[in-house]
Amino acid sequence: MFSMHTHTCGELRREDVGKTVTLTGWVWHRRDHGGLIFVDLRDREGLTQLQFDPDLCDEECFRTAETIRPEWPVKVVGRVQPRIEGQANDRLATGAIEVIVSEIVVLNTSKTPPFPIEDDMDTADDIRLRYRYLDIRRPSMMANLRLRSDFSFAIRQALHDELFCEVETPALFKSTPEGARDFLVPSRTQPGHFYALPQSPQLLKQLLMVGGVERYYQVAKCFRDEDLRADRQPEFTQVDVEMSFVEQDDVMNCLESVLSKAFAKVGVEMSLPLRRISYWDAMDTYGSDKPDTRLGMELHDVTNLFGDSQFKLFSSAAADPDTYIKAINAKGAGTWARAKIDKLSGVAAEFGAKGLAYVAFNEDGSVKGPIAKFFSDAEMDALRAEMAVEPGDLVLFAVDSRLKADEIMGGMRNHMADALGIEREGHDFLWVVDFPLFHWDEERGGYASEHQPFTQPEESQIDLLDSDPLAVGSHTYDFVMDGFEAGGGGMRIHDAELQMRILKMLGFDEEGAKEQFGFLMEALEFGAPPMGGFALGLDRVCMLLAGADSIREVMAFPKTTSGSDLMSAAPSPVSDRQLEEVSLKTISHE
Ligand code: ASP
Repeated sequence: MFSMHTHTCGELRREDVGKTVTLTGWVWHRRDHGGLIFVDLRDREGLTQLQFDPDLCDEECFRTAETIRPEWPVKVVGRVQPRIEGQANDRLATGAIEVIVSEIVVLNTSKTPPFPIEDDMDTADDIRLRYRYLDIRRPSMMANLRLRSDFSFAIRQALHDELFCEVETPALFKSTPEGARDFLVPSRTQPGHFYALPQSPQLLKQLLMVGGVERYYQVAKCFRDEDLRADRQPEFTQVDVEMSFVEQDDVMNCLESVLSKAFAKVGVEMSLPLRRISYWDAMDTYGSDKPDTRLGMELHDVTNLFGDSQFKLFSSAAADPDTYIKAINAKGAGTWARAKIDKLSGVAAEFGAKGLAYVAFNEDGSVKGPIAKFFSDAEMDALRAEMAVEPGDLVLFAVDSRLKADEIMGGMRNHMADALGIEREGHDFLWVVDFPLFHWDEERGGYASEHQPFTQPEESQIDLLDSDPLAVGSHTYDFVMDGFEAGGGGMRIHDAELQMRILKMLGFDEEGAKEQFGFLMEALEFGAPPMGGFALGLDRVCMLLAGADSIREVMAFPKTTSGSDLMSAAPSPVSDRQLEEVSLKTISHE
């Protein structure tokens, strides 16, 4: 016994009737029933109903029961008794019993909480975050933290069983680019010099492979200074893995086994092997490199149906080898009012569309929409056949370059799935593989890594690095869960010369590359083995397991979208002395 209590508040059952027990917890609800007082006592395991009867406890005990208030922590001693006929509560684990209290000790008092400690509450997020410690007392938050703990324990265990070695890498390090801005930490002893908090342990885990660790993992904090518009946090957790003397299939097979074991421990079956879809298949079929395949509504390339169309936009697209007509069938949306359908072009614009063509199929077999009149009967028949059209369907079209058309229809597919309330049953797991090595970064006007600069190009395409870099593939794989990128990784370059060549293609000159990554390239020259790895986004996976709609719901102390911690008011100014110690002066932007 390492506790003040003999049982938790979620533990007592009918079999315990007659026992004398000690419980600790917080007063949750208190009901005064003229003479009898009932209290729900709550701890992290559940709640137990307490009864204070003036005939069965001394006067002081009963008086205390009259004064206790919600969220006071107390300790009680009492006897377990069955609830009276008709009062049992089947929905509650402890619903068959109650505890008749003979002694109570008030361990502390509490101010009235700023919001009810209940799962069904609509308190604003900033109040929840300001008093996060109270928010965590709510059973659903507590359950999320437990789920996260269970899953991360399970995955550690699965990795340990596969002979992975857990190694901690430093948080004070050098810039490790994963495509975001670094958080910098000034050095006191070397004025004007800075550490960067790692965006991921990428370089360090590669160095561990050079060091012969062979199988490494870490539940690692990663730091990325990004604008937090989406559901992002400046610091988040990855289950980071690296292996050496392996090929891509070895890494993926090992990961599948580890992931399926960890998911099984939290009650989620994953049938193996996982489906593998190439990047281009995913884009062409789902319009996304992280598709949710439970939604149906696959994209169809209908370009060739409209070679002779009267509708000029379509016939000229069909004549241009770089333009595609992609379509989805949003079943049921054809019955929407015209105005509601017309509003969809605004949604499509958010995904980069210049307009949105559509044909709606009425229940009576007629068609509506501004472009339908241009289609010949043969075109309409071909469209019906290609898109498996039934009465009440709505076919949406995007006309653009292959990738753009895919992305627009991919965005519309997700939007229509939400709008039509398509049920997502169970979980959807798959790999997306074979990403291109580079994409063209419009803003910078240069090549950028699709994953990161250390990714191994597809060996058979290395020749294309000079002539057609965008055609070069890579050894990469993303783990997709329920339409979210839940993890990603790849094989790494283990040849110093090739690494330098890739860095130059990304815009580094030799000197700059050496300054930032010289230590990596030097290490690669000392017998670096073939290697590959992966990182799983722990926050996102736990969010999906919990059925939550934000990663904040599975983090104990998340920050707001502007990066603030509302409890401690971080970030906050520091004293002039602290600044001077690290040789810094602040400049005001006003
Ligand atoms: N370091 C990569 C990331 O953070 C994952 C990996 O390639 O292992 O996304």
